[in-house]
Amino acid sequence: MNDTARRFYAERDARTVQYGADTAALERPIAVLVATDATSRSAQVSALALVNMLARVHRRLHLVVPVADLRARALVDARTLADAMITTVTAINPVLALTTAPTPTSIPANAITIGIGTELPTGLDLYLGWRGGRGEIATASCRASSASEEEHILGAATAACLAAAMAFRATHGSAIRPTCLNLLERTADTDAGTTSRTGPVDVGNVLVVGAGAVSQALFYWLREIGVVGKWDIVDGDFAELHNTNRCLGMTSADAGWPNALPRGESRPKANIAAELTGAHPHPHWYDTWPDLAYAPRYDLVLPLANERGVRAQIAALGEPILLHSTTSPNWTAELHRHIPDRDDCPACRIPAAQASSFLCATGPAIPATQESPDAALPFLSATAGLLLAAGLLELHEENELVTGRQNHWRLHLELGHRLWQSAIHLNNGCPHTLPPAVRQTLHTPAPGRWSNIDPAI
Ligand SMILES: [Zn+2]
Repeated sequence: MNDTARRFYAERDARTVQYGADTAALERPIAVLVATDATSRSAQVSALALVNMLARVHRRLHLVVPVADLRARALVDARTLADAMITTVTAINPVLALTTAPTPTSIPANAITIGIGTELPTGLDLYLGWRGGRGEIATASCRASSASEEEHILGAATAACLAAAMAFRATHGSAIRPTCLNLLERTADTDAGTTSRTGPVDVGNVLVVGAGAVSQALFYWLREIGVVGKWDIVDGDFAELHNTNRCLGMTSADAGWPNALPRGESRPKANIAAELTGAHPHPHWYDTWPDLAYAPRYDLVLPLANERGVRAQIAALGEPILLHSTTSPNWTAELHRHIPDRDDCPACRIPAAQASSFLCATGPAIPATQESPDAALPFLSATAGLLLAAGLLELHEENELVTGRQNHWRLHLELGHRLWQSAIHLNNGCPHTLPPAVRQTLHTPAPGRWSNIDPAI
């Protein structure tokens, strides 16, 4: 490794190492083999997301990609799938040790091998598959459905998250653990069905507060799934190189490190996320956002930030429903729902001062330092963003996501025995929730699309 690479990794991988990564394990090669029969849009979404996540932590990649026109929307401009994959990984990591081949020969020794499609050699470590909303990783080739492609995008994206999680764990010595997962059903393994939804996400006008890793992942997936409505995103923060270890929409140039050197300008996180879908960026902190007073009435507010007391401020808006997702130091991606009076609020669920309470004895993470309570790995943020995107695809007044008692779903991506846990958090005298009469005064004159969810409005 040369000095440029050493300096780049020292800066970029601070949070990855904080999360418990072993830098020697990150040097182990990962080979991704895309079969000649895996060129559908869903297969391309899966392949591009997988290498996007891998390049953010692993330092050696080998790509085997067939000749195919690009059909996914992708993070970069490209004409072919191979161009898109190569340009994506080198934009994320300019010092990546990258090799490519048109056929599955000369795979680096000791590589973790991952296959997408069916026309593949036997004996790879891991194969991706999907049907509808169900994503799968297996130790034998599994069919990736190609009929009526849009309904398979969610499963293909889910399979990519599972594969990236498993690859990371495999480089750190874990055995391959085959599994199936459906983020809409919030089911796994033998329970996982093929329920799916197609885009575009259509939930009205949306305000996204925060452009960190989960938000970046949400916008990355919305780009592939499709989205309509006016979306605003507000965040005053600028990209830093150590954010690129988990922000799916962010390149090293965005963080001011073009060509792996700290010679560029860092860009606002809000702009980086907004560009993915054509949303409107507002590079300000929510609490000092000058346009807030003039902002339209949003149908939905997504609280995806955790600093400057933002959760309590958003809880006090009296919105009929708040949805958001998070990662934790314990290998989880979590979906949260908050309906006034029924559920607790985001500030009560995740108190700012107690972020470290997520550190339980089972987690491998090194306790978060004060300046970085949100260390995560790319597949955790990616899965949290996809979990929220799935929630938005199914958002409906009569859906169990809205009507059910459960309001917190936790997905364990250390891929142990049990993947899902759900919980019910009641509103036990939350000081942030507005009384029904105040919510009525605020929202009844101009009800938003989801106002019926709150009986007070
Ligand atoms: Zn509260």
